[in-house]
Amino acid sequence: MAELDEADETRLAGRRRDTLRLVTGAEKLDVVVVGAGIAGIAAAAELNEANLRVRVIERANSVGGRMTSARLGDARFDHGAQFFTARSRQFKLLIEMAESAGVVTEWTKGFDAEPDGFSRWCGVDGMADLVDFMSSGLDVQLGVSASDLRAHPARAYVVTPPLPQTMAILQESNLLPSPSLTTRLTKKITYRPTIAVLVTYTGSTAMASHGGSQTPDHEAISFVGDNFAKGVSAERSLTFHLSEPWSNDLWDASDQNIIDQTWVAFADRAGSAKLVTAAVYRWRYAGPTRRWPSATEVWGDAPVVALAGEAFKGPKVEVAFLSGQAAAKAVIERLAIAK
Ligand SMILES: Cc1cc2nc3c(=O)[nH]c(=O)nc-3n(C[C@H](O)[C@H](O)[C@H](O)COP(=O)(O)OP(=O)(O)OC[C@H]3O[C@@H](n4cnc5c(N)ncnc54)[C@H](O)[C@@H]3O)c2cc1C
Repeated sequence: MAELDEADETRLAGRRRDTLRLVTGAEKLDVVVVGAGIAGIAAAAELNEANLRVRVIERANSVGGRMTSARLGDARFDHGAQFFTARSRQFKLLIEMAESAGVVTEWTKGFDAEPDGFSRWCGVDGMADLVDFMSSGLDVQLGVSASDLRAHPARAYVVTPPLPQTMAILQESNLLPSPSLTTRLTKKITYRPTIAVLVTYTGSTAMASHGGSQTPDHEAISFVGDNFAKGVSAERSLTFHLSEPWSNDLWDASDQNIIDQTWVAFADRAGSAKLVTAAVYRWRYAGPTRRWPSATEVWGDAPVVALAGEAFKGPKVEVAFLSGQAAAKAVIERLAIAK
């Protein structure tokens, strides 16, 4: 186990031990972070630790972004990210803290018949648990959709939604980067969609006891997660992520058609499971198709603007976390110079 010091604990979990500074309406914030996914909350925790007045605005009514869960009756589904791995020191430390607090748990050490021994982590009650844990003590305003950022005055902005949404916010705010960076970002960062199919069932499947099946080369289904076996759902429930070709081909198909085709494609792993209810969720911006070479992009000084999120360096929870931290560090440097 890696050793934690107090600075690590406060920075990583956004849990300042002193009193949270409340910002009055008239007081200008140092930084506004757009988006309460893991990148935005990681950035906010780092900025908060640097003693900056930071507020996160999030258009949804909960934190987590693409680390999220849905309900169908009493069944619960992780329907975005299914698990996360931890390779960097900083992320490992966070996961250790979250595990000690009973927030995350190891799901499995691998999905293949012979596990590779590398931990796959998940939230105890759902994938948003980790972000929820990190956001404790931070100023997070839910249900606030950013459009023109001039309505949220600050010395700096960290913007974390998927790039098309980010660029729309920046355009509205008259904060786009140089024309050449704008062109490079919009040309390079494009997204693949993923259709998620959520199914409740009776009986038992023929999947491994951990309930995860990762099949990136399968023509129809790239991942199946059994939320019951995973411990997230009290009812038997499966999350299917369709492959990129199927997600593209079926994007405009009816929900019933998608459900029927998914269940047929699952036949070899279905065992005695009988489908009871089902729903479809379409992730338009499931993940970037190419990697941007740096963890953040920063420009300007009044205000400073930094971009963060999984589009920067790779399509994973941990990468989004590291990108949020990188953006925060870049903003801290620029604001220090601007003082
Ligand atoms: C189907 C699917 C499966 C995945 N599986 C895995 C996996 O198994 N393992 C893994 O490591 N990664 C996985 N990922 C990727 C992982 O979910 C992402 O890398 C990570 O969650 C992205 O975090 P983020 O903070 O960059 O973006 P997001 O989580 O998307 O956060 C951006 C936030 O910005 C908010 N927002 C958008 N517009 C506005 C606005 N105008 N105003 C205010 N807020 C706004 C959004 O509501 C959102 O909360 C998966 C993703 C998907 C979609």
